[in-house]
Amino acid sequence: MTRVPLAALAALLALASPAGSRPATGAAPYTFVLGIAQDGGVPQAGCHKSCCTSGRHQRVASLAIVDPGTHRWWLIDATPDFPSQLASMTAEAPACSLAGIFLTHAHIGHYTGLMHLGREVMGSRGMPVWAMPRMREFLAANGPWSQLVSLRNVEVGALAADSAITLGDSLHVTPFRVPHRDEFSETVGFRIDGPRGSVVYLPDIDKWERWDRRIEDVCAGVRVAYLDGTFFDAAELPGRDMKEIPHPFIVESLSRFAALPAAERKHIRFIHLNHTNRAGITGSSERKRIESSGSGVATNGERVPL
Ligand SMILES: [Zn+2]
Ligand SMILES: [Zn+2]
Ligand SMILES: [Zn+2]
Repeated sequence: MTRVPLAALAALLALASPAGSRPATGAAPYTFVLGIAQDGGVPQAGCHKSCCTSGRHQRVASLAIVDPGTHRWWLIDATPDFPSQLASMTAEAPACSLAGIFLTHAHIGHYTGLMHLGREVMGSRGMPVWAMPRMREFLAANGPWSQLVSLRNVEVGALAADSAITLGDSLHVTPFRVPHRDEFSETVGFRIDGPRGSVVYLPDIDKWERWDRRIEDVCAGVRVAYLDGTFFDAAELPGRDMKEIPHPFIVESLSRFAALPAAERKHIRFIHLNHTNRAGITGSSERKRIESSGSGVATNGERVPL
């Protein structure tokens, strides 16, 4: 019988099970999904249908960027579920603290969580909030957000389209403009570039054809692209004029992406699902149709290395 010295065995075991499941200090950055629902979440206020009475819960879409090496993390969009999402990050990355918030636009699911930074709750001091020019103006000019600015709970930094913000060595966040119902602000998506790979986060956009860029080009070569999956198809909201809310239907995206190589389709994950969207339900025929195309639906808690 071969004898393995105890010290060597211990070293082997240490290699096989790196300190728990947590990324160790010095580990590379990653993204972490904190919610996958449209602005109203699931259940949605006022909905008495089975989508919202079955006991299913989905938090509003948002993404964390975690850098365990510098003990910091950043949030994309401060949603109405901000308290619970912050608590999830305490569990996910207890050694890291929130170092800033990036905002896509001024629809309620994307910025109203900022209210918790004020004196009624966290009383933050100078929390960096990154926003585009109209969004900054909107926050500074309208209460209660203006109080966060005047009391210096937040320090609103300027984003410019296609211009990167550096978060650390080889870690960058770049906003890009997209067409959307811009009543109060511009709308952006974000590209996050790390030392090992990139992620695109685009929860809200009007139809792909209304954009002067090709979504296929924007997503080329990224590890994961989280894309607007608000509605599955045109039949989803009977009695509502879908022209008022012109998101790309998932079925339209699937047929558009059918032309892509399978290796690229598998990086596409739909996010920002409306409560009525049955693709949000595991095992539904809508979900299966997405999965059989090679793409997927974002999952709460999923990590992508950057
Ligand atoms: Zn939204
Ligand atoms: Zn519902
Ligand atoms: Zn929106």
